[in-house]
Amino acid sequence: MSKPVFCDHCKKPIEDKDELVTATYYFRIKPFHFRCFEKYIKHSAHGAFTYRQINGTTGNISFLLTIVLALIVTAIGQYSWIRLFGILILTYSLTNRLLSYVLYESRLKSS
Ligand SMILES: [Zn+2]
Repeated sequence: MSKPVFCDHCKKPIEDKDELVTATYYFRIKPFHFRCFEKYIKHSAHGAFTYRQINGTTGNISFLLTIVLALIVTAIGQYSWIRLFGILILTYSLTNRLLSYVLYESRLKSS
């Protein structure tokens, strides 16, 4: 049996993949219950920086848009530093998505 995943807000176990929201904030990925994320985390203000959802419909759409934009910037960037910026965004997004899956999503069963 795999290690349980605990919500970073209420510290209770997350039983099901449908309850799980993974979010990133300052290069950290944290798991939350869907309810905890919606109620306490999503709208908590930390200046311009807030938790950004990685999984679920919102996270997947955001991920795909980021990948498309990063590929466009990388492909048509006139200067090498612009292309490097695109590659960094691409790497960061892919790493976040992969870590979210490996660290949390793969350990939970879906209903
Ligand atoms: Zn919770």
